Amino acid sequence: MSVLIFIDAADGHVKKSSFEALTYGAQLAKQLGTGAEAVLLGSVADDIAALGKYGVSKIHYAANDTFNHVDAQLYTKAIADIATASAATVIVLSHNLTGKAVAPRLSVRLKAGLVTGAVGLPDTSNARPDDPVARGFVVKKAVFSGKAFAHVAINTAIKIVSISPNSFQTIAGEGTAEVVTANIRVESPKVKVTATNKVIGEVPLSEAELVVSGGRGLKGPENWGMIEELAHLIGAATACSRPVADAHWRPHHEHVGQTGGSIAPNLYIAVGISGAIQHLAGVNRSKVIVVINKDPEAPFFKAADYGIVGDAFEVLPKMIAEVKKLKGVA
Ligand SMILES: Cc1cc2nc3c(=O)[nH]c(=O)nc-3n(C[C@H](O)[C@H](O)[C@H](O)COP(=O)(O)OP(=O)(O)OC[C@H]3O[C@@H](n4cnc5c(N)ncnc54)[C@H](O)[C@@H]3O)c2cc1C
Repeated sequence: MSVLIFIDAADGHVKKSSFEALTYGAQLAKQLGTGAEAVLLGSVADDIAALGKYGVSKIHYAANDTFNHVDAQLYTKAIADIATASAATVIVLSHNLTGKAVAPRLSVRLKAGLVTGAVGLPDTSNARPDDPVARGFVVKKAVFSGKAFAHVAINTAIKIVSISPNSFQTIAGEGTAEVVTANIRVESPKVKVTATNKVIGEVPLSEAELVVSGGRGLKGPENWGMIEELAHLIGAATACSRPVADAHWRPHHEHVGQTGGSIAPNLYIAVGISGAIQHLAGVNRSKVIVVINKDPEAPFFKAADYGIVGDAFEVLPKMIAEVKKLKGVA
């Protein structure tokens, strides 16, 4: 029995979410009394051995350019091959775009039970003595847009868990990992990426520690200058509610919520957003929520740490002026 963690990388660098997955997998291995290894696909410029500080002893590295673009079919085969070769019984991935595409395919390929979006380590004590099959691996995940938790027992020999972003604290210790060339046969891709258009020059929303977000209360796209200025001043990413993206006031990659991105920054400033449950589903794991809304009855205030009842068109310029003063910016 061992735990295998998938390290996700993009543009030649390991993603922040992978540090969380590595920590989770290493802690789970400790809990199970087994070892933790990892797999990294595609060429990266980072110090791979240094990832051992998160608790993995060995990293299977496939520095093949074929893996530089995410191809769910090729990734699935490669991870499955390494899992089989290393006799892994638990596979851990991040519940991000790559994880969402790969985990279900792995589940089918390895006939493994899968829990997506876990929010904590599995309960591996004999939690279900009445059920000898299910006992010993019960994973907690959020359901109904974060309104409830489900405890799901995985009863297959191989288990796959994808972890919800920002739900597990990264712990970096000492040590390095042994980096070995992944023993896999790289197949030709069935699909080819011919072009990639990337948003550049902004803080990526999924990685942002600070987010300023706007809703329909801002009346129109011409008023987003205030959101962008505040975001720029504090080094934040910008986000929006779904109707705003649907109306093409803002690009769809900024839309957060049940049907958009799920984020957990340290600070989420929501301006002119009502706080519907579908919006909260994507942001309610933020550490501090600040709500600016002119309606004191807006549901978002119930989820807020700080609230300002006021007109965004008066409040935001004042906030911007104060931040400028604090930063000594003209
Ligand atoms: C299946 C499903 C999935 C959905 N998924 C999502 C999702 O992923 N993300 C999402 O966001 N929504 C989602 N929605 C839509 C959601 O239910 C809400 O309709 C939406 O979040 C409302 O967006 P809003 O708060 O920007 O707009 P509104 O509901 O119109 O609220 C605007 C707010 O701005 C305030 N306001 C108005 N003027 C000002 C001003 N001058 N200053 C300050 N405040 C002002 C108002 O008091 C109000 O609270 C989904 C809905 C369904 C049915």
